[in-house]
Amino acid sequence: MHETSIIEELLAIVQRTAEENRLVRVTGLSVRAGEMRAVVPELMQEAFTVMSRGTLAEGATLEIESVPLKARCRTCRRIVRVEQFAFFCPRCGKALSEIVSGKELDLVQVTGDKGDSP
Ligand SMILES: [Zn+2]
Repeated sequence: MHETSIIEELLAIVQRTAEENRLVRVTGLSVRAGEMRAVVPELMQEAFTVMSRGTLAEGATLEIESVPLKARCRTCRRIVRVEQFAFFCPRCGKALSEIVSGKELDLVQVTGDKGDSP
């Protein structure tokens, strides 16, 4: 299950972000996952719940936003929404070689508590 390695990566970034922002506890995470990553949100949630135990992010809510897969046709420069991994331009039939979006896996927001707040 590749969600496990994604969560592992994610938790490392969360840990770093929390330290940089002096958070003692992380309460919420927001992630943008491109369709190319082929993540299953339910599995992500499950892996996160298990793997965040004992970390700063234990009990935090995980929000996953899916980013559509889009590619550009080199011939007609058209940007095509790729569905079911069919990388062909509907106008000229050429292969789509340039991915515009859908590869990302970004942590867009981390919310949490600072220990020194009153
Ligand atoms: Zn084309």
